[in-house]
Amino acid sequence: MQKHVLFENINDPKLHNIDRAIELGAYKAWEKVLKSIKREELVQMVKDSGLRGRGGAGFPTGLKWSFVPVASPKPKYLCCNADESEPGTCKDRVLMECDPHSVIEGVMIAAFAIDCHTSFFYVRGEYDLSMRRIEKAIDEAYKKGYLGKNILGTGYDLEMILHRGGGAYICGEETALLSSLEGEKGLSRIKPPFPAVSGLYACPTVVNNVETLANLPRIVINGGQWYASMGTEKSKGTRIFSVSGHVKKPGNYELELGTPLRTLIYDYAGGILDDKKLKCVIPGGSSVPVLMPDQLDTPLDFESVQAAGSMLGSGAVIVMNEDTCMVWVAEILAHFYMHESCGKCTPCRQGTGWLYEIIHRIEHGQGRAQDLDTLLDLAKNIEGNTICALGDAAATPVISTIKQFRNEYEYHIEHKKCLVKSDFRLR
Ligand code: SF4
Repeated sequence: MQKHVLFENINDPKLHNIDRAIELGAYKAWEKVLKSIKREELVQMVKDSGLRGRGGAGFPTGLKWSFVPVASPKPKYLCCNADESEPGTCKDRVLMECDPHSVIEGVMIAAFAIDCHTSFFYVRGEYDLSMRRIEKAIDEAYKKGYLGKNILGTGYDLEMILHRGGGAYICGEETALLSSLEGEKGLSRIKPPFPAVSGLYACPTVVNNVETLANLPRIVINGGQWYASMGTEKSKGTRIFSVSGHVKKPGNYELELGTPLRTLIYDYAGGILDDKKLKCVIPGGSSVPVLMPDQLDTPLDFESVQAAGSMLGSGAVIVMNEDTCMVWVAEILAHFYMHESCGKCTPCRQGTGWLYEIIHRIEHGQGRAQDLDTLLDLAKNIEGNTICALGDAAATPVISTIKQFRNEYEYHIEHKKCLVKSDFRLR
């Protein structure tokens, strides 16, 4: 059974309207927070829930909040990271389009937790409907008195400012997002200082992902222990998995963390398209290592996927069948990361271009005998040597596909053509 927490009312076609959302329980948690919960109690409740960031890194949410120096005389800022751009990931979009009030209620609750009075909502530039739904939801929340001055007569003030990104993948990285919000180029910043201490306008700032925030109203209403009763020992709650590629029923599925990968692919996503053989799965967005068919029983939680040699990342599960050329896959991904590199640090700026150039020539029948060694050497020199995680994101698919499918690369180099001999492409 799917475990619907975030998706409880997602199929209600009117859920994005505030009156319908209120009928279904929206803003009860915000009222409860404002009227009966102290800031410290809220932080503890979220710590108790075990909620971890759903954007990719999986950092504990309550702990992240507790790094903010609340006594600082500077303003504190809360930013919702809705710049969902990792290839294969489309869960935040569904939440923003169908249930925007849960998301902005989550922003309100997180803002209260860090004593913030000005919050920001940064939406991916290409997400037009998400942008319009969030804009309307914020407007409705102001009109109902859930935002603005002296909210519900409690004396608490909170503004929410919507910002549309310009379409750069790197702005999903929290420090690049903050640079972009300040009106600068979306370039990543060297950490430390971390945003919790010096973020937006050099003030204490928390950046939380859409799915992470949407969980907060449910945790406030039902309690931290309720949330912690779902999932595994260290990976609590549910997760929305975006399944794409060669499956019969691609889509977003909300499951308890710890559900086996096999269950997600075969029971929910309908199994492999045309009943072909499974070749491999990217389990957490395009920047993580592939898992092989003999790893299908891996439970989908942070620790188990890591133990299997990959990462849960953004929860995007990309399934590939036996007809997929992995050199072609590596070429597509190398091109993406080269294109999206912000260019600030040399290993990433130069290295992503060189990775793409070499894989492109292998894929197009011009590979050289030494190319695989050069690719691995390059990828290993990028890994861990860059300002932000994009460098690792570019290197990982190259290392992982050469490790698991070296024979395909070698066949391309030796025979100047594809071993898989198929023009079947990922959908
Ligand atoms: Fe920019 Fe790439 Fe360096 Fe990140 S790793 S700061 S994207 S050049």
